[in-house]
Amino acid sequence: MTDHHNHHHETTTTTTKNKNKHVVANDVDDDDDDDDDMNEQPLLMHKYSSQMDQFSMTPIGSLMLWFVKYGMRIFGYAMVLFASALFLFHFFFYFRVLMPLVIPSLTSSSIVTIDDTINVDDAQAKQQQMTSKHMMATVFHMLMGLFLGLNMVYNYVQTVRTSPGTVPREWLDQFEESSVEQARNASVSAVRGKSVSKYCGKCRQMKPARAHHCHVCDTCVCRMDHHCPWVNNCVGYKNHRYFLLFLFYLWCCSVYMSLMMVGASWNWIEHSAFVLNEWQVWITFDMVLCGSITLTMSGFLGWHIYLVATNQTTIEFQFNKLRLVMERGTGKVAINEYDVGVKNNLNQIFGFGTRSMLWALLPSTRDLPLDGVNYPTLSSLSYGNNYNYSKPEDHMV
Ligand SMILES: [Zn+2]
Ligand SMILES: [Zn+2]
Repeated sequence: MTDHHNHHHETTTTTTKNKNKHVVANDVDDDDDDDDDMNEQPLLMHKYSSQMDQFSMTPIGSLMLWFVKYGMRIFGYAMVLFASALFLFHFFFYFRVLMPLVIPSLTSSSIVTIDDTINVDDAQAKQQQMTSKHMMATVFHMLMGLFLGLNMVYNYVQTVRTSPGTVPREWLDQFEESSVEQARNASVSAVRGKSVSKYCGKCRQMKPARAHHCHVCDTCVCRMDHHCPWVNNCVGYKNHRYFLLFLFYLWCCSVYMSLMMVGASWNWIEHSAFVLNEWQVWITFDMVLCGSITLTMSGFLGWHIYLVATNQTTIEFQFNKLRLVMERGTGKVAINEYDVGVKNNLNQIFGFGTRSMLWALLPSTRDLPLDGVNYPTLSSLSYGNNYNYSKPEDHMV
C-alpha cells in the first residue's frame, strides 16, 4: 500500500569504515553527481518499484488499487466507530462499576462495629478515619481515571483529525519546470540531496525526502510512518506525537483497568456473600480484553519508542534493515543519517524544545520544530527552516 520500493539510500548513508573503525559519512550533498556512487542494491529496488508502478497502470492493478483505497477507508470509519464505542463503554465501566467495587475493599479494614469493648467516641473516631480514607481513595481513582482516560481520548481524536502533513505548496513552487521534468523522466532519483529526492507519479509533483505516497489517503505524506485503519488516517510528521501518546496512554489505561478489575474480582471472591453482582461476567470478559491489550501494546509501544528514538519510520526501518543485510561483508556500513541523538530525535516529533522531556506527555497543540520537508542529517548537521528552538551547538553529536 505504500511505495516502499522507491525508498532507498537517502535514508541510510553508505559509509566506509576505515582501519581504525571510524565511520565516515561520504554520501552527502551530491546534487550534481548521482549514480556513480550507487551500488546494485538500490538499482534492484528501483527495478522492482517500476514493475509495481507498471502493474498499477494495468486494468487489474488499478481495480485492485481502487478496492484498497475505498475498502480501507470504509474499514477505517468502522474501526474509528468501534474504538469510540470501546472508550465510551470503559468510561462508564470504570466510574460506575469498578470504582464502587474496588474502593470499599480498600477501606473495609476499618469497618466499624459498636460493641461493649469500645466506647462511642472510639467508634466515631474510627468512623471518621474510614470516611476520610474512603474519600481519599475515591479522589485518587477519580483523578487517575480522568487523567489517563482523557489523555487517551484527546490523543486519539487528535491522531484522527490532524493531517499527517502533506507536501507544502511553497516547497513545490521553488522548483523550476525543467528540474521537475528532469526528475520525472529519471528512472532513478536524478535530483538528490538533502531535501529533494523524488518525483511522485501519482500526485505528478516533486516528493520530498522521507515522504511517501499513501494509496488510501491518495496523497503524498511527509515522513510517512504507516496508514493506520484504527485512526482512519496516515501517521506522518504532523500527527506522529499524537499517535505515540495515544499508544502510551492506551497502555497506561489497560494496565490500570486490569489492576482495578483484579481488585474488584478479589473483593468478589473475599466477600462473595454480599458483593456478588451482575457485572462479574463483564469484569471477567474485560479482564481478558485489557490483559490482551496490555500485552500487545507493550510490544507495539516499545517498538515505536525504539523507532522514534532512532529517528526511523516503520517504512524506513525495513530499508535500513535490508541495507544492513545487503552490505554485510562488503566493508561498507549503512547508517541512518537522520539519527541525530535520542533527545533531538524525540524533539523533532514532540517539540518540547529546551524544556523537560516530560512536557511531551501533556496534551498540547504546540508547533513542531521542523517543516516536515527538511530534516537535519548526521552528516551535514544542517537545520530545517524552522529549526530555531535552540542554538546549533546544542545539536552537535
Ligand atoms: Zn504522491
Ligand atoms: Zn494514508
